[in-house]
Amino acid sequence: MFATILHAPHDVRYEHLPDPQILKPTDAILQLAATCICGSDLWPYRGLQPVERPQPMGHEYCGTVVAVGADVRTVKPGQFVVGSFCISDNTCPHCAYGFHSSCTQGEFMSGAQAPFARVPLADGTLVATAEMPSPDQVVDLLAVSDVLGTGWYAAHAAGVKPGAVVLVVGDGAVGLMGVLAAKQLGAERILIMSRHASRQKLALEYGATDIVATRGDEGIARVLDLTRGIGADSVLECVGTQESFAQALACCRPGGGIGYVGVPHGVTLDARQLFFGQRRMLGGPAPVRRFLPDLMQRVLDGKIHPGKVFDLELPIARVAEGYAAMDAREAIKVLLRVAA
Ligand SMILES: [Zn+2]
Repeated sequence: MFATILHAPHDVRYEHLPDPQILKPTDAILQLAATCICGSDLWPYRGLQPVERPQPMGHEYCGTVVAVGADVRTVKPGQFVVGSFCISDNTCPHCAYGFHSSCTQGEFMSGAQAPFARVPLADGTLVATAEMPSPDQVVDLLAVSDVLGTGWYAAHAAGVKPGAVVLVVGDGAVGLMGVLAAKQLGAERILIMSRHASRQKLALEYGATDIVATRGDEGIARVLDLTRGIGADSVLECVGTQESFAQALACCRPGGGIGYVGVPHGVTLDARQLFFGQRRMLGGPAPVRRFLPDLMQRVLDGKIHPGKVFDLELPIARVAEGYAAMDAREAIKVLLRVAA
């Protein structure tokens, strides 16, 4: 088959690779229905994360099981499944506590920007649908695999409750999913920091009530102004820079919660500021597996359409164009169509 390989910064190629094989009795092989490019793929693409050797890309996936190892019990060939970008056994103490992204057997999924992919620990990682989803549902289910699961976790980690005032820092795909999540969890007001018209439009569609188009001290002042000087009950930090963390901390009310899901790059925090600020913080790679059954059901019931976040669709052979478009911020998130 052909698959997506990152050779060096700005050098991504769709090239020949051996077909994935069952390597362990707990593996499954999927034929992917569609795949996509993640904001986090841009860190190595931009050279902000080292690329030491050619790297198979892609960790968001859904599709049909075509083969399973001898020990796999909960999924079988022919079933449509969705998995998390974090591989997990779903049985260890951390999984049992809901933190599948800290699974003792965990690893990160890779190689999913391809027509076929190997998923380790299939029993613990994959969730099957009862029936074959429609093409529209496939796009929504693909978003569940990472981007929605991550936005959802941000909202959970920030403690979003019915009636809450929520601030979302970041208008990338995860931030937009954070808006969707906050709305589903009953937030009354949802503010989002955004300076891009197309992203603002989608944020409003997903339930945002206020757009804050300024940054830095001005942005902080605007959020405080909009919240009667109190700050937000819950803040979703969906970027991972020093500026976005400063924004999140300054805009969260004392006793409020910050859920941070942007992978921090070059961020340092002041312990005294945290001490006197009295804000709860929980973050990290999202334990998407915990939320998968609920989120898949919401999609299948037609309650949510996270797939609207894909604003550019390309055949997978043109994956390099997709990276370039996301890098240039010409696309929020790129859907890659896999030829059958
Ligand atoms: Zn585990």
